[in-house]
Amino acid sequence: MSTNRPKIVVLGAGYAGMMTTKRLTQQFRPEEAEIVLVNKHNYHYQSTWLHEVAAGTVSHNQARVMISDVFNPNRVRLIYDEVVEVNKDEQRVVLENSELSYDYLVISLGFVTNTFGIKGMEEHAFSIEDIESSQLIREHIEYQFAKYKSEENPDENSLNILVGGGGFTGIEFVGELAEQIPKLCKKYDIDRSKARIINVEAAPSILPMFDKELVAYGKKSLEDRGVEFMIGAAISECTPEGFVVGEDKELVKAGTVVWTGGVTGNSVLGKSGFELTKGKVNVDSDLRIPDEENIFVLGDCSWVMNEEQGRPYAPTAQLAMQEADVAAANIKALVNNAPLESFVFDDKGTVASLGDTDAIGSIFTDTKLRGLPATAMKKVIDNRALFMIGGPKLVLKKGKFRVF
Ligand code: FAD
Ligand code: NAD
Repeated sequence: MSTNRPKIVVLGAGYAGMMTTKRLTQQFRPEEAEIVLVNKHNYHYQSTWLHEVAAGTVSHNQARVMISDVFNPNRVRLIYDEVVEVNKDEQRVVLENSELSYDYLVISLGFVTNTFGIKGMEEHAFSIEDIESSQLIREHIEYQFAKYKSEENPDENSLNILVGGGGFTGIEFVGELAEQIPKLCKKYDIDRSKARIINVEAAPSILPMFDKELVAYGKKSLEDRGVEFMIGAAISECTPEGFVVGEDKELVKAGTVVWTGGVTGNSVLGKSGFELTKGKVNVDSDLRIPDEENIFVLGDCSWVMNEEQGRPYAPTAQLAMQEADVAAANIKALVNNAPLESFVFDDKGTVASLGDTDAIGSIFTDTKLRGLPATAMKKVIDNRALFMIGGPKLVLKKGKFRVF
């Protein structure tokens, strides 16, 4: 140990990082450990609300929380800086503006968009990655409306919004757009038919993780509100005009092009020389990197196997927060030379919103929800995450209460 008090450094103040830090403050008295939380910004954001920020249905301020409102800076040392790399051999973290040593390290830097090397995607498509990238999408969409209205001969494709990928993020995003676009049409006095919302999915179905009945319900709900689907249509290229789709390479044009085709672990992992599986760090059941006694990797940066199903758990906020509990307990165990516990995921189910007023979900073992009960459940889940991070005060300040 570098000092008498072990120094525990948590990288990233997302779901995993905030919850780990919270649990560490509960596990250790101030004189027992120094706890440091490093984050790019001075705020935590609800990644699970980013599609709403991108559509403009939730303000960026509602989706973010000042970290110093949750943690007393006298209790947790807060560093607002960007992590560049981890040098595990020297037990050092390189930040953009300084460096940091650690005794125990928790890496919870979240996800980045995965474009799978699709030509032009990085250059020409927006992605829903953080508050800034989501705000940019919202602003861009509104700019397209203002521009369309101000031009004598506007580009008839400019109000189209193309969303590439019909997984959770893509579908939740088009659900929000289905609510927001009619409002923008009204605001700019533009006929609703001028603005198309098109979701493109390579697989034979959107949301393949849900059962067919729920998917059919969700798809119809979105279609009824003007969302168009191109299903079984792989995007092979993104150009400044739109997506190149399907075997006959049709160019589908739009003024706003958003890629929601997948995510992977933060690029800091690769830069730091960790062994990666599909961009993530494979961890043991105690959530440490194999052969690394003092480094835990959590949330979207980690590859945690579901041994029963022989594949990794899907990266979710639910998983990240549960991992945080085990990581904090295991750091305490390491400090006390006690046995470590294994992570076991308690899957409480999944709900996908289809805008503010509709949703589909599958909770507990096999209870299927749709419509109002699913919408209410989604809000309970969103508010629960706020509660876990900042208690009832945060729920009252930032929570979602409207169901209709
Ligand atoms: P994050 O919550 O992404 O946090 C990472 C943190 O690290 C951020 O604060 C970021 O600013 C910071 N950071 C990143 N890079 C650096 C750096 N270099 N230096 C310093 N700080 C850095 N999951 C669910 O369970 N339910 C849902 O309903 C749901 N909805 C979602 C909706 C959308 C639109 C998206 C994109 C994801 C959704 N997810 C949902 C998935 C969920 O958001 C992620 O699995 C979860 O955020 C992972 O938590 P995390 O702590 O690993 O990372
Ligand atoms: P995803 O991997 O779940 O979905 C991506 C979709 O894009 C897939 O359906 C895939 O077939 C499609 N796709 C990939 N390449 C394509 C191509 N070339 N052309 C057309 N379609 C293509 O990714 P996501 O939706 O970003 O979600 C990321 C993670 O976040 C998931 O694990 C998910 O569980 C989680 N998440 C959960 C929720 C929720 O629980 N409500 C919401 C959002 C995200």
